[in-house]
Amino acid sequence: MKEKDKYLINRFTCRFKDNLLEQEYFDRTMDADKKYTQPLIILISVVFLLFIIPEMLLLSYNTSLREIFLIRFLTFVILIGLYIIIRQGSDNRKIAYLISIVELVLMFIYFNVMHTFASMEFLISVLNLVVLISVIFIIPNMFINKIAVAGIVFVGFFVFPNQTLSTMDIGLYAIAMTNAFLIVLMIGIVHYRVNYFDRVKFVNEKELIILSETDSLTKIYNRAKFDSELIKWIKIKDRYQNPLAVILMDFDHFKEVNDQHGHLKGDKVLVETARLMEKLIRETDIFARWGGEEFILLLPETDRTNAIKLAERIRETISTFDYELETPITCSFGVTEVFDNDNIYSVFDRVDELLYKAKDKGRNMVISEESA
Ligand code: GH3
Ligand code: MG
Ligand code: MG
Repeated sequence: MKEKDKYLINRFTCRFKDNLLEQEYFDRTMDADKKYTQPLIILISVVFLLFIIPEMLLLSYNTSLREIFLIRFLTFVILIGLYIIIRQGSDNRKIAYLISIVELVLMFIYFNVMHTFASMEFLISVLNLVVLISVIFIIPNMFINKIAVAGIVFVGFFVFPNQTLSTMDIGLYAIAMTNAFLIVLMIGIVHYRVNYFDRVKFVNEKELIILSETDSLTKIYNRAKFDSELIKWIKIKDRYQNPLAVILMDFDHFKEVNDQHGHLKGDKVLVETARLMEKLIRETDIFARWGGEEFILLLPETDRTNAIKLAERIRETISTFDYELETPITCSFGVTEVFDNDNIYSVFDRVDELLYKAKDKGRNMVISEESA
């Protein structure tokens, strides 16, 4: 997928065209929504079941009460089942489809009750339909699933109304259906817009985070991001005792490069070097621009010996690369492993000192504690 297309939203399904991004967004919203959905389901299921108490007091014990009790109990069981699935399930996609199925089953039960007690005023039942469809839109799910369930329920309701069509005023039926359709359509449109703008906000936040962590010239991480990663990895090292190493590098006589070829050529050297280095490091390594012409690498799971090997490989690659300039391009390197009780300042101090030693000793070389 092209860079400019990665945030595109499908206009009909209101989904990101990039599947990975869609999954990230969907998981984030579902995980957030699940927090309020779980207690809500418990509350609704218990209240729904407890309604049996006033019904027992008000209605006489006959067939209808028995059926009402059965339906209330069945709904309670279905809702508790849904609660358990949401609580235990980790695949949000499956949960979303299950929610839709449960919604359809509950709606089916509800309309069956309405058919059994056909005494309900038709217009009141239309109002109920609109309320129920609004609830479908509030319950977390994919937009397309909500539309599908709302559509099935809407069509089902008007194809099998609770009053027989032949006895109904057909004009009233048509007006009720048109108005209900318009309300549901408007709920759908509002929901679509909220969903759409929430996605725009999501990608904007994502872009902002990327911008705040990225060096604008070389497109690698900036110093702020490196600092926070180093703090994080020192904590991980303290806990798990895995090796962790840092390489600091500085271009040799870079002022001369600028003086002889201009700042733009100097910039190009920095960018080309960043691209060269990206090919040499691992995906898990943290690569950042530390200062003007200084790059820094954080190497998780790497001891000093291996860090030195990598620094040598980078040094060699840069010094032999054809930058299409008369001035030779070389870099000096300081390499250190992170010790117990180190903090970011002690690490920076030590690696900076080692880099200075490399400069002192003649540049275009790698210096670590061992060789210092
Ligand atoms: P050495 O490090 O080997 O001692 O010599 P140097 O000439 O590289 O000296 P120093 O590190 O002190 O100077 C850094 C130079 O790098 C000065 C500055 O003009 C240049 N520089 C810093 N940032 C940039 C940048 O973003 N673009 C360009 N083109 N040059 C930069
Ligand atoms: Mg320099
Ligand atoms: Mg410098």
